[in-house]
Amino acid sequence: MTAPRLDVDLDLVTHNTRSLVDRLAPRGIRVTGVAKATLGSRDVAAAMVLGGASGIGDSRIENLARLRAAGAAAPLTLIRSPMLSQAERVVRTADVSLNTEAVVLAALSTAALHQVVTHDVVLMVELGDLREGIATVDVVDLAGVVAALPGLRLAGLGTNLACRSGIVPDQDKMDQLSALVELVEARVGRPLTIVTGGNSANLDWALGTNDVGRIDELRLGESILLGTEPLHRQPIVGLRTDAFTLVAEVIEVQTKPAQAWGATGQNAFGDTPLRGGPGLVRQAIAAIGRQDVDPDGATPPDGMTVLAASSDHLVLDVGDHDVAVGDEISFRLDYSALVRAMTSPFVSTSRVTRPAIDPVPLDPVPLTGGAA
Ligand SMILES: *Cc1c(COP(=O)(O)O)cnc(C)c1O
Repeated sequence: MTAPRLDVDLDLVTHNTRSLVDRLAPRGIRVTGVAKATLGSRDVAAAMVLGGASGIGDSRIENLARLRAAGAAAPLTLIRSPMLSQAERVVRTADVSLNTEAVVLAALSTAALHQVVTHDVVLMVELGDLREGIATVDVVDLAGVVAALPGLRLAGLGTNLACRSGIVPDQDKMDQLSALVELVEARVGRPLTIVTGGNSANLDWALGTNDVGRIDELRLGESILLGTEPLHRQPIVGLRTDAFTLVAEVIEVQTKPAQAWGATGQNAFGDTPLRGGPGLVRQAIAAIGRQDVDPDGATPPDGMTVLAASSDHLVLDVGDHDVAVGDEISFRLDYSALVRAMTSPFVSTSRVTRPAIDPVPLDPVPLTGGAA
């Protein structure tokens, strides 16, 4: 096998999606599977759809274009506000886009007229996290503008919290979004069909509340892919945290002093490294580095510790593990490490299968195939 590589267990992606879909469906909430951390992988998107995701979202139009070209039949949503310069491409590629800017909406309208299609628009509302979003006082007016633009259909409202500032999506925030939905419906005179309440950070609220209000969709990436929730980075009960494994090859194993010697300046990344103290370390170097993974988000097997990372080397204390040159070491990844690994041209991906996980009933809806 080539190294470094990312081993992807698609059954676990499907399992995690199914588990979340089954828990949210009784609450009237659909799941859009967010594929952006996997570079818009067709196989991962298909695994999400197999698990019951009602559509696929991605922040990059290039990723959605790849899914579209692969014959994706599920609705595709661009979850980052479109670039003005990409309006034509967004309308051609995405069924839905999340928006905040009138000038972009005008360009999407022109593009939709040009392509003789209807493009669905969700307006994103600023509820305190201070990333994308329209001020609440401006939402109804902008909704009126969208409703009047030819080629566009105002599909709904959404919000995104816990991304820039870690603001928690709680009952109060979701109630504000629901209240705005009612105001917009009164203004445009028809019901909205998408009320997308947020990302994996919304799961605590969505699974705990007894009043989801008008929220009928969540956009889930991290929880599906890694089985964790972003507010406290804890595993979610019933989900698998091992769908993705990064594998690197060992290129040196030596016993070395824990303490470096000589006059000490900064290392290659501008840190002044901590001296290691007395004693010896059984140290291995894995042929992977900051170009390929966020070393802070890569967890080696129990009993090993990451000591340091440069662009191309990951230095590990391998403890009592029996490690030799040429061996492979597997790492669990957090979201940041997964994104870096997926986007490194040096890391290949491979599908792995394991013995069947607990038998969840699957509802085979192929992402690829005749329907597109
Ligand atoms: C990344 C992203 C998501 C998915 O977030 P997760 O925490 O991975 O579930 C949802 N919505 C938007 C707008 C995003 O940028």
